[in-house]
Amino acid sequence: MTIAAIIVAAGRGTRAGGDVPKQWQSLRDEVVISRTFKTLRPHVNIICVVLHKDDVTRWEALGLTADCIAMGGATRDASVCAGLEALCAYSPDKVLIHDAARPLVSAEIIRSVIGALDSHKGAAPALAVTDALWTGHDGTVSGTMDRSGLFRAQTPQGFDFQAILEAHKHQSTPAADDVAVARAAGIEVAIVAGCERNLKITTKDDFLRADNLLGYEMDVRIGNGYDVHRFGVGDHVWLCGVKVPHGRSLQGHSDADVGMHAVTDAIYGALGMGDIGQHFPPSDPQWKGAESRVFLRHAVNLATQNGFKVSNVDCTLVCEYPKIGPHQPAMKAALAAIMELDVNRISVKATTSERLGFTGREEGIAAIATATLVKS
Ligand code: MG
Repeated sequence: MTIAAIIVAAGRGTRAGGDVPKQWQSLRDEVVISRTFKTLRPHVNIICVVLHKDDVTRWEALGLTADCIAMGGATRDASVCAGLEALCAYSPDKVLIHDAARPLVSAEIIRSVIGALDSHKGAAPALAVTDALWTGHDGTVSGTMDRSGLFRAQTPQGFDFQAILEAHKHQSTPAADDVAVARAAGIEVAIVAGCERNLKITTKDDFLRADNLLGYEMDVRIGNGYDVHRFGVGDHVWLCGVKVPHGRSLQGHSDADVGMHAVTDAIYGALGMGDIGQHFPPSDPQWKGAESRVFLRHAVNLATQNGFKVSNVDCTLVCEYPKIGPHQPAMKAALAAIMELDVNRISVKATTSERLGFTGREEGIAAIATATLVKS
């Protein structure tokens, strides 16, 4: 069975404020229509996006791949019709018609609508009205209405493809939604459970509501870092920001603080933004002898600029000597100061490699680190 979806995005709605229609504005870090598209994508075989001609470059800038694009008409009905006609080439069995401005639709609702289409030619999500209903006139209540049996309609509204295509072709008067079009053509539409979360973004307040709803979803990123530096002539090593006396020194372009490099790379890794070598190329003479705190501070700043805060880091140094234990508190304190992080969120620990390998032969020191970043 082939299931298609139409994302209706041709509207010019600017009641939400801003210079562009609401579906092209950002909710958190993502354009509304992009979030809607990505939510529907896993549930359907084909997606048709119906755009206003002025929005084609906006769509292309998102880098998303729709199976087909249709140009919207003067009304919502005309836009849906354009989408249905574009989908004819794919001969889908079912079609879900969804508002681009409902980006928080859940997988559960989408599955419920598709499931109900097994036994009905139409199915759509809705919420029973729970508030009392009034009529009003000149600022006063002129009457009350019975709310029993009343529902607030949502999307996606799902249909047998041929049935809704024919229904739209024969629709001559403007319809509130596709369920209205379907019913006018005699198609029975099953009601499935909607959700308050599946709100339609219309006003600025709706953006705030959607933002609050997303606030409960934590965005947590984890990155790892690994680094090795070899021993050479010298009388100290820098490890996690602490100068430790030792019979040899670690070699490297910077101060060769292997622990701090691993922590820095873990943060870059969590951000998906490269590594120390990319941000501070060893070939660039300005970083010769650089203090590694410059690198770590850069990574932390990059996290902040991208809306993340470092939640914790854990670094393990692998060496036989020097002994790390006596310096652990100072190392944690040094990292905490550079990262402006509570010292309880930092772990520095050490292990030997049982005299095995290059660390066991005391040819160098290795470090691994993990960093957790949380969207703030
Ligand atoms: Mg290094």
